[in-house]
Amino acid sequence: EGERALAEDTSPGATADGHPVALLANVGTVDDIERLGPSAAEGVGLFRTEVLFLDAVRAPSREQQTPVYAHAFAAAKGARTVVRTLDAGADKPLAFATQEDEENPALGVRGYRLVRTLPELLEEQLAALGEATRALPAADRAQVWVMAPMISTPEEARIFARLARAHGIETVGAMIEVPAAALRADAILAEVDFVSLGTNDLAQYTMAADRLDGALTDLLDPWQPAVLSLVAATARAGTATRKPVGVCGESASDPLMALVLTGLGVTSLSMSAPALPAVRHALRHHPLSQCRAMAEAALSAPTAPQARQAALTLTAPEV
Ligand code: PEP
Ligand code: MG
Repeated sequence: EGERALAEDTSPGATADGHPVALLANVGTVDDIERLGPSAAEGVGLFRTEVLFLDAVRAPSREQQTPVYAHAFAAAKGARTVVRTLDAGADKPLAFATQEDEENPALGVRGYRLVRTLPELLEEQLAALGEATRALPAADRAQVWVMAPMISTPEEARIFARLARAHGIETVGAMIEVPAAALRADAILAEVDFVSLGTNDLAQYTMAADRLDGALTDLLDPWQPAVLSLVAATARAGTATRKPVGVCGESASDPLMALVLTGLGVTSLSMSAPALPAVRHALRHHPLSQCRAMAEAALSAPTAPQARQAALTLTAPEV
């Protein structure tokens, strides 16, 4: 198969034996969604809304935000659109939401935690998302999924879910990117409709290694067995509750990792759009049982390189 044939394949993501794995795109702007067109993406798995406001000096009002989300939902044409509420702080500084004097911004008031200092920020955003959602045809409303970043406890998930539902959002979720959340994924899933693993931050916090520190890339490797264990625990909780568990960190764009994530029980993979065709192709050539064997082999490896090698050894020869 040539690269062109690969790129033109827009069939839904599935393993060789037909087990579905939704293949979604990570986006940061409405333009990104429009560019997806009739492409490989079955929807948007991560809409990083903070990207919309990187240059804003003041917090955007509900009135400013509503048309942006309405435009985004129109561009998605009824496909699933997973919107993440503002993830400001640490590596994502926003002028109107970042505390200057934090000693350890990655461990500070970032993501959902901003509700402690700037509760109106989340209120205004959820109000705008709710308004844009209600303007959609009834059949499309449940396709807008809204999740909070940096959730650490089931109680945070509960408060977020209550707030989001009060604004008319039907499908509410939490990101799992803090080890505490992965370890209590069952209790978090009792509060929300879905979760999505952010493997970039999950690796950072599991390995206590700054994701921006180029000297620590070996520790930040998503193949670290400790990170895989937390992904496995989260996926198990999803399987037990029959609720979706996605991955929207960069690791999903590695076809070999995508197979392992599928084997662990992850139900959707979201990545930068250009990575989708290779992941679809890899899935198509491996039945779920083989993905599971790869996942088990990776989980029992002692190091990250050995985890990757263990999975690689079990791939189909033609891929
Ligand atoms: C992640 O942490 O893996 C994630 C998807 O979010 P971000 O990279 O935007 O922090
Ligand atoms: Mg993150």
